[in-house]
Amino acid sequence: MTLSEKDSQYLWHPYTQHKTAQTPIAITRGEGALLWDENNKEYIDAIASWWVNPFGHSNKIIADAIYKQLTTLEHVLFGGFTHEPAIKVAEKLMEILPKNQQKIFFSDNGSTAVEVAIKVALQYFFNKNEKRTTIIAFENAFHGDTFAAMAASGISFYTQAFQGMFIDVVRIPVPVKGQEELSFKTLKTLIESHNCAGFIFEPLVQGAAGMVMYEPEALATLIGICKENKVLTIADEVMTGFGKTGKTFAMDYVAEEPDMMCLSKALTGGTIPMAITTFTQNVFEAFYDDDINKALFHGHTFTANPTGCSAALASIDLLRTAEMQNNIQRINASHLIFQEKIENHPKVITARTLGVIFAVEIKSDAEESYYGSMRNKLYNFFIEKGVVLRPVGNIVYILPPYIMTDEQLQKVYDTIEEAIEMV
Ligand SMILES: *Cc1c(COP(=O)(O)O)cnc(C)c1O
Repeated sequence: MTLSEKDSQYLWHPYTQHKTAQTPIAITRGEGALLWDENNKEYIDAIASWWVNPFGHSNKIIADAIYKQLTTLEHVLFGGFTHEPAIKVAEKLMEILPKNQQKIFFSDNGSTAVEVAIKVALQYFFNKNEKRTTIIAFENAFHGDTFAAMAASGISFYTQAFQGMFIDVVRIPVPVKGQEELSFKTLKTLIESHNCAGFIFEPLVQGAAGMVMYEPEALATLIGICKENKVLTIADEVMTGFGKTGKTFAMDYVAEEPDMMCLSKALTGGTIPMAITTFTQNVFEAFYDDDINKALFHGHTFTANPTGCSAALASIDLLRTAEMQNNIQRINASHLIFQEKIENHPKVITARTLGVIFAVEIKSDAEESYYGSMRNKLYNFFIEKGVVLRPVGNIVYILPPYIMTDEQLQKVYDTIEEAIEMV
C-alpha cells in the first residue's frame, strides 16, 4: 500500500470532506522551495505551506539550532520557571515590534494567540469593573478555529454550524478603496450602540478571505477612533508578520500602534508550532494587582517550549539578514512585473501585490464559492503541473518562501497564466 492509501484508513484531515476529497499527496522530503512526493514527483511550494515557511524546507540553520536546544533543554514547564530561550525571544522581539509592545505571552498556534488577545480584551474591562463585552471585527475576517477566534471570523464556511453559540461580535466593512468612509462610520455607530471591549483585525491583508488588501491610512483612522473611545485594538499578524508585507510587520506601515499583536505561522520558520501575543504595559497593568483574581488564568502545557523558542530565535536572525531582506525585495519587484503583465488580461478582474504576497482574481460566469468548482479545477491543474497553490474561490494567490529562486517563481507565474487560459 502507498502512504496515500494507508492514510485514509486512520486520518482525518483539516477542511476536508473525506467522502468527496481526493486522496492526499504523501510528501516524503522538502528542500528550499521544493517538495517531493512518494513517487518522487517534484512540487514548488508557492504558498510556503500555509504561510509558515519563509526560509525554505529543511533549513539547516534552524535545524541545527533546534538540535542544540533539544540536547540541552528540550522542555520545562513555564509556570513558576523560566529559561534563556524565552527571555532571548522576548528581547529580540522588543527590537523589532512596534515600540509600545512591552509584554509577551506564549501559546501554541495562531488561534490560541487570538484567543488570548480576545480574553485579555474582555478581562481588561472586567478587572476595571467596566461592562464591555462586545468585540468588533471585519467582515470576512479569519482569526482561527477555536471558539473566540471563530466568533471573530466572518467567513461563514468555517463557522455556520456554531452560529448562536459565540461571544458578542459586531462587524464593520473592510476599508477597501471606495469603502473607507462606510467603514469609519460603521465603527463609530457600533461603538456608540454597544459596550465594545476590543477591535480585532488582520492589518492590511485579509489572508483567508483571498488576500484582500486595504491602505495603512484607513487602518490608522480606525485605530484612532478606537483609541478615542478606549476600545483596545488587536493586530492579528499571524499571517502578515515576519516580512510578508515587505516590512517586518504590517503594522510598520501604520501610523498608529495597536494595544496587542498576535504572532505565529512564520515565527519559527515553519518548524515548530508556537505563537505569541504581545501587549502594551497599560494592558498588562490591568492584570497586575494584589488580588489573584485579576491575573490572566490562561496557559497551555507547552507554553514557551524552549525548542520552539530556539527555532524562533534562529528564524528572526535569518529574517534580519541582508540576504533575506533582498529576497523579499526581489520577489516583490518580480510580482509587480507579473501583475502589470496580466492585470489587463480579458479574463482577469484585478491583481494586487504587497511585499511577497500576490493575488489575481479570475473572471467566472457563476458566483464562485470558497471551495467551488472553478477553485477545484484550478487547484487540480496546479497540482498536476507540480505547483502547490490553493485558490480561494476565483482568487489565486502566491505567498512564496523568500528563498524561492527566480526560475521557480517564473514557473509559478507561467502556470498561473496557463490556468487563466484554461478555465
Ligand atoms: C492562520 C491564521 C490564524 C490561525 O492560526 P492557526 O495556527 O491555524 O490556528 C489566525 N489568524 C490569521 C490572520 C491567520 O492567517
